[in-house]
Amino acid sequence: MSFLEVSNIIKTYKKSSNIINVLNGFSMTLEGGESVAIVGPSGSGKSTLMHIIGGLDRPDSGSVLFEGEDIFKAGYPIDKYRNNKVGFVFQFHYLLNDFNAIENVAMPAMISGMSMPKALKHAEFLLDKVGLGDRYHHHPNELSGGEQQRVAIARALMNEPRLLLADEPTGNLDLNNSYEIMNIFDRLKSEGVTIIMVTHDEKLTSKFDKRIVLEKH
Ligand code: ADP
Repeated sequence: MSFLEVSNIIKTYKKSSNIINVLNGFSMTLEGGESVAIVGPSGSGKSTLMHIIGGLDRPDSGSVLFEGEDIFKAGYPIDKYRNNKVGFVFQFHYLLNDFNAIENVAMPAMISGMSMPKALKHAEFLLDKVGLGDRYHHHPNELSGGEQQRVAIARALMNEPRLLLADEPTGNLDLNNSYEIMNIFDRLKSEGVTIIMVTHDEKLTSKFDKRIVLEKH
């Protein structure tokens, strides 16, 4: 059994009388701790694929097996999958300006029922891990773009996901900050986290185990 098996995903969008074929039988298999970079032109379905793998959107047909179980089958605990098995990092980090870095990171775990002291302690540990041990009490608007994205990564790791989905995580960052994020991903991978990253920046894909190119249909 593989860690993640994505098979024959078909996804179309209907917009008035137009049918847009976004994914046309996409498949890939990943083992635990592997990393894959997904590249391809704008509109080729990269975000759609990430949403489907993360259980945020359903395919028209095809399956996503996580540790052997179909995440879209009736009765599968899809909310638990989204909240606890998968971490999401987006181009825009959606941090909350009214809260400081620790609170932003701790939020998903507190929502999932972790006690506040425990959540804040784990948030500190994660901020240390992404190199922000000296920024606990900064609010997002007091942090640089690269630092904000590292807070967002720490937040994505809060529930200790086995799978990290990163959709253009460096889209707003300069090259140095982008490499910084890639180093963090490298360390996570060595701890066994499986990483799927969408990027338009070919320079960032070299350390990934696999590279998949999506075509526009
Ligand atoms: P990428 O991430 O590679 O840029 P997307 O997955 O965002 O591609 O989009 C793929 C195609 O599907 C695009 O042509 C986009 O316009 C279309 N699309 C995405 N979401 C929707 C939607 N909710 N309704 C209609 N069309 C959509």
